[in-house]
Amino acid sequence: PAARALAGLGARVTVVNGTDGARERAQAAELEQWAAARSASREGGGGRRAGVTVRLGDGETLPEGTEVVVTSPGWKPSSPLFLAAEQAGVPVWGDVELAWRLRGSDAAPWLAVTGTNGKTTTVRMLASILGAAGLRTAAVGNIGVPLVDVVLGEGRTEGTSYDVLAVELSSYQLHWAPSVRAHSAAVLNLAPDHLDWHGSMAAYAADKGRIYEGNTVACVYNVADPATEDLVREADVEEGCRAIGFTLGTPGPSQLGIVDDILVDRAFVENRQRQAQELAEVADIAPASGKPAPHNIANALAAAALARAFGVPAAAVREGLRSFHPDAHRIQHIADVAGVSYIDDSKATNTHAAEASLAAYEHIVWIAGGLAKGATFDELVRTAAGRLRGVVLIGADRALIREALTRHAPDVPVVDLDRTDTGAMSEAVREAARLAEPGDTVLLAPACASMDMFVNYNKRGEAFADAVGELAAAGH
Ligand code: ADP
Repeated sequence: PAARALAGLGARVTVVNGTDGARERAQAAELEQWAAARSASREGGGGRRAGVTVRLGDGETLPEGTEVVVTSPGWKPSSPLFLAAEQAGVPVWGDVELAWRLRGSDAAPWLAVTGTNGKTTTVRMLASILGAAGLRTAAVGNIGVPLVDVVLGEGRTEGTSYDVLAVELSSYQLHWAPSVRAHSAAVLNLAPDHLDWHGSMAAYAADKGRIYEGNTVACVYNVADPATEDLVREADVEEGCRAIGFTLGTPGPSQLGIVDDILVDRAFVENRQRQAQELAEVADIAPASGKPAPHNIANALAAAALARAFGVPAAAVREGLRSFHPDAHRIQHIADVAGVSYIDDSKATNTHAAEASLAAYEHIVWIAGGLAKGATFDELVRTAAGRLRGVVLIGADRALIREALTRHAPDVPVVDLDRTDTGAMSEAVREAARLAEPGDTVLLAPACASMDMFVNYNKRGEAFADAVGELAAAGH
């Protein structure tokens, strides 16, 4: 999208990929065809000639004459190409920075969300609430809809514009987005992740904290995660911008929280006589199965805080939460088989996420394992130990989890499948069914990335659902 946007504006673009494989060549051919077709249709019409060249196999040297580098998130900041850019005095922008430079908030004000976990869920809840308030909005950014396309109007009906955007930003995107300024923003939580990319926890936190810089109305933080409040304190914001907390407990002034299973706002109260505004019931948060998991209540509060900062009335918060549906593979209820509930949380790709989903159930047979990305599992296993009926381990780094289980949950039965082939999921589900008792939950919350066994977490979740289907069909 960045290359197309820039070429469309008349820039000469060189697309660089250090890898020279079949996939990259196919992408290159597609992009070059697009550029050729575009300039053919423009020729004679007086339009500027779009130029896109693709360079494969050399990801280190800066193409001659480069005036700006636009990077995709996969490239580490320490990549030689960026060092070359720095030496040549050439700026490096991410796709989000590019979008901002092209249109800024002229397209629509941004309500932005980051955090180690919960970003996509919160942004979807937020878009649902904004929509319920009658605002023209979209969930964009890291969620899969490139911001450059949104701000330039690509792919939308002519004439459609937005009142406000619900923007998901990753730590990678924030790292390369120095001038972005949101209306309001939230950091949901901070736990170690992607440290190989950022270099350290401090650098990771600093990149997340960028989301608050220059906010005009509200910086939303998690009361239970003081590191997020620290980031608000350190941020340079516009005058009058407020720090707004969200908590699963009773809210203080300038906070949103829960009182008697009701979401309550003490930050943006419409009637000054009253100290608090009731927004919705916890039960309004469309549950994937049964009652919403605590982390999804927290996500709902963060979404509500951003919507309220934008002036959305209480009734729309309630309506938006009611009509929200979680994306697949996030605490998704697959089926009940023989009195056991099967839940797909394949998106729990790190220990912080898995800890949240394990906290949501009482008696669990846990399917875990995959690529650990340098994580340690002691704390996760220690906190979850009392809830585990049994554990089934799959994937490349399963020994790390097994060792943590030996240390902190020695009595919990563990089936170590010693398999990394795709078919392992069927066996894992059958083993989990054997360990489970009626009333239990079989939870796929791997705490690891999926790429050792699957193309991505979606495929891993689908394999789980298929395996549960086989189990049901076999009459277990
Ligand atoms: P992200 O976009 O940040 O990856 P998602 O909304 O896709 O977040 O959720 C990813 C996973 O993180 C979920 O499957 C769930 O296990 C976990 N999760 C969601 N919200 C939270 C939260 N607020 N705190 C901790 N874990 C969470």
